[in-house]
Amino acid sequence: MRGMVMRRIFLPVFLASILTGAGAQNMHIGIYQDHLVTSSVVYCSSGNYHLVAGGEILARFGDGDILYLTLDGEKLKVLDADRDFGFFTDVELRGTTPDCVFRIRPLQPGLESRMYDDDLVVHAGDRFMTLINRVDMDKYLAGVVEAETGLNAGKEFYKAQSILCRTFALKNLDRHQTEGFSLCDGVHCQAYRGRSMQHPGILTAIMETTGLVLADYHYQLITAAYHSNSGGQTQRASEVWVSDADYLQSVVDPYSLHQPHAKWQDTISFREWKEYLLKNGMRSVNRIPDEIIYVEQMRRKKYFVLDRDSLRMTKIREDWEFPSAFFDMFPDGDSVLVWGKGYGHGIGMSQEGAMKMAADGFMFRDILQFYFHEVRLMDYRDLPASSIPDVEF
Ligand SMILES: [Zn+2]
Repeated sequence: MRGMVMRRIFLPVFLASILTGAGAQNMHIGIYQDHLVTSSVVYCSSGNYHLVAGGEILARFGDGDILYLTLDGEKLKVLDADRDFGFFTDVELRGTTPDCVFRIRPLQPGLESRMYDDDLVVHAGDRFMTLINRVDMDKYLAGVVEAETGLNAGKEFYKAQSILCRTFALKNLDRHQTEGFSLCDGVHCQAYRGRSMQHPGILTAIMETTGLVLADYHYQLITAAYHSNSGGQTQRASEVWVSDADYLQSVVDPYSLHQPHAKWQDTISFREWKEYLLKNGMRSVNRIPDEIIYVEQMRRKKYFVLDRDSLRMTKIREDWEFPSAFFDMFPDGDSVLVWGKGYGHGIGMSQEGAMKMAADGFMFRDILQFYFHEVRLMDYRDLPASSIPDVEF
């Protein structure tokens, strides 16, 4: 790939550190972040926990024990099956054994329950409680890779995906700092719906790449962008985002063709298309022949240009809710046929392209070098301290 010396790297597999979290970085993830939760029930599913509040250990919990948390005023009312512990601002269920797992179900609003590894930290607010999963980084990543990709891809794909998710997580440790945690569990950060179902392909990928991230040539963590399918060509970052990055260039990507989200189709009315262009400053629309008021992209374009006016392809995508900004248009009576390629913003790694590369026998480092231009694959503990946000919770 691009003249790279193909070199297998042999990574020590610290299975024990995955299982115990010993020496590993803990993440603080805001959970159920799409909801304003005011009441929850927590079940200890395995391991032993300490209930900590007001700087004291209030109780010990084991398998099957239940804890009720309710917001009352600006405090948390804390109860178990037969004790009333009182009111607190902050409460923790702190795991004391390596196999700690809890299940939580918000009662107000009523939501589905989820399982999480390690600890639960709860802060009282004036309108809702902030629920935080303090979790070993690799356990968190297993949950993220599962939520972001599904279960049936190849191991080398999962390794590439794990490295991107780890890079994203470490680069964005301060994203929600003012709310008391690092990352949320929604698509705003990375989807995380609790502990992984222990899919062996995902767990092995995390273990065999533990600590690995992508850095640029200044030893800074990269913007680890990925999307579903590039449609055959990835998008240069500066064409969508304000800032450019040397490592996020456009790549011709044959691996994404013939994959599930390689193509899409839509139909819109020609009258509405014309009105839309006029409304968005394309003044020449009424002067030029109808035949040329159509988008054509053999390769990805940044702008749709008519005469002296232009409109960003990404804006058209957003306004018409198209799956991607990579599409062509064809006249069809009073309508416009839209034939699109790819799914998502198109920047960085195409997940379906990477899955195809893995199926074709490429290793994870080949996949990453294909989608990211001149990046360093390295352990985050070898990066300068300044490249990872310093956060304290
Ligand atoms: Zn977020």
